[in-house]
Amino acid sequence: MEPAISIDALPISGEAPRWSSLIARLRQPERRPAAAIRTPHSHSPADDARQRIAASKLDGRVYLVGAGPGDPDLLTVRAARLLSSVDVVVYDQLVGDRVLELVPAQTRKIYVGKRAGNHALPQDQINALLVALGSEGLRVARLKGGDPFIFGRGGEELEALIEAGIEFEVVPGVTAASGMAAYAGIPLTHRAHAQACVFVTGHLKDGTANLDWEALARPNQTLVIYMGVGGLGMICRELIAHGMAPDMPAALVEKATLPGQRTVAGTLATLPQRALDENVQAPALIVVGSVVELHRDFDWFERRPEARRAVSA
Ligand code: SAH
Repeated sequence: MEPAISIDALPISGEAPRWSSLIARLRQPERRPAAAIRTPHSHSPADDARQRIAASKLDGRVYLVGAGPGDPDLLTVRAARLLSSVDVVVYDQLVGDRVLELVPAQTRKIYVGKRAGNHALPQDQINALLVALGSEGLRVARLKGGDPFIFGRGGEELEALIEAGIEFEVVPGVTAASGMAAYAGIPLTHRAHAQACVFVTGHLKDGTANLDWEALARPNQTLVIYMGVGGLGMICRELIAHGMAPDMPAALVEKATLPGQRTVAGTLATLPQRALDENVQAPALIVVGSVVELHRDFDWFERRPEARRAVSA
């Protein structure tokens, strides 16, 4: 059987919206190529897809790969090997240019992230695209910033692949919090400061984050807040309202592990204004806890001339 998508038909590098007609076709069950080999014994779309893949002797597989926080040297060896051997790379906004440079020029790359003023491809269309590519026997690296299972919707993509009977593997990545901790010199735990560390999303729905503020305000822990720049003022206010000291050290780390990384440190009371004064931009993490004080002594990366040059450039 002819695959519906030929590897030669994929552009070397392109944006996912080009694939909207393909995706629309795949979402109309009567036009799914899988229908062609449906047998009386198949009972679910996953069964259909498995049979189809078996029938065409294709070996499609989607690798959900963590790209790390930006510095390409922080990729796992497994991720680097896969990037140089797969047929297609599907990537989003947080994957840095320097990581993409590791993908061979002849490998097809499809961008599914946000463009200025535009939204990312909706998640269900990304899922459909991965299923489409995998069911044509292609080896696909679905490359995501940081770790695919930390605020990365990796679980949602796996559910879609399983539903469609597509083989998959997961490759962990250095999550932004770990990269930030190392490169900003802010240990996430330290026996004198914090016995626990909490990763939390500050993404706001209706202007508020629905978080367990009482638990977050407990002593002797470090908070790392992803996607929190827009909600910084509200986050600091809520932590203080739930019992954290207004002079608790807190910092924003912008572009962690990349040239131009910048740490803006203060306290819960002062950080929101400092962030405005310094015009901190995403991607950035908020870190809250007394470990933030260690940045003063442990900072090694931002002191380097090459990191500073990128800031003033
Ligand atoms: N899966 C990713 C997180 C995706 S959520 C991971 O494991 O790291 C996106 C958020 O991650 C951003 O809003 C920002 O808070 C954080 N982030 C990702 N890369 C970053 C970087 N290089 N520097 C600072 N924050 C980063």
